[in-house]
Amino acid sequence: MRLAIFSDIHANLEALEEAVACAERSNIQKYAVLGDTVGYGANPDECFKWAVQKASIYILGNHEKALIDLSIVEDFSSPAREAILWTRKIMAESLRRLVYDLPYLKIERGVTFAHGSPGEPEEFRYLFSFQDAAPSFKKMSGPICFVGHTHVPRCFCETEKSASYLKPGIVSLKKGERYILNPGSVGQPRDKDPRLSFGIFDDEKQTFEVIRLEYDNQKAAQKIRKAGLPAYLADRLL
Ligand code: ZN
Repeated sequence: MRLAIFSDIHANLEALEEAVACAERSNIQKYAVLGDTVGYGANPDECFKWAVQKASIYILGNHEKALIDLSIVEDFSSPAREAILWTRKIMAESLRRLVYDLPYLKIERGVTFAHGSPGEPEEFRYLFSFQDAAPSFKKMSGPICFVGHTHVPRCFCETEKSASYLKPGIVSLKKGERYILNPGSVGQPRDKDPRLSFGIFDDEKQTFEVIRLEYDNQKAAQKIRKAGLPAYLADRLL
C-alpha cells in the first residue's frame, strides 16, 4: 500500500491542490493527514473539508485544537494567534464541530501517527534533535511513526541515534531499525525551501519518499494579505 502523508497544510489551498495532484499521479491508495490543516492561511474551510472527506487518518494538530479550546492560544506566537482567531470567526460552524472527533494519536497496521510526538501527543512537543525524539521511541508500538509540527522534513533513527534532514528523494527503511519520520509541511515549509513538502510511505517496499514541489505561492500569499491577516504570514511563503 502506498500512503500519502500530508502535514501542516495550514489553510494553503494552492499548495494542497498541487500536492494532491502529484499524489494522485504517484499511485497512492490513501491519505494520512497529521494535523494543522487550518491556521495561518486563507482557506481553512476548503482545506479542512478536504482532509475530513479524503484522509483515512486525520490527526488533531494544535491549530485544530485552538478551534475548540482557546486556552491553547496563549502559547501561540502573535501572528499565529491572530490567524486562528480569524479562522474561528470565518470557519463554518458545521466544520468546526468536526474537530471534536479528531484523535491525538492513531496506530494502524503497526504504524503510529501523531502531530507533535507519539509520547503525550496532547502536549504537542517539537521533535528537532535526536534528544527530543529519544523518549518517543519508547512510546511506539511498531517500528515506524509519522509526525509533523516542526514543518521540517526529518528522519530520526533509534539505533543510529540520528536526526537527519530529509532532502527530496527515497529513503529505504531497514528491518530492525525504528524510525520517526516527518514529511515536512504542505502549506508553510520552514526550512528555507519555499516548495511544498509531503511524503509517500510504501509499506511493501518499506520506503519513505519526500516530495518537494513548486506551487502558486504568490497567489496563496496574496490571499493572506487580502484577508487582512499579518503580512508576515504571507511573506513566510515566498
Ligand atoms: Zn503547523
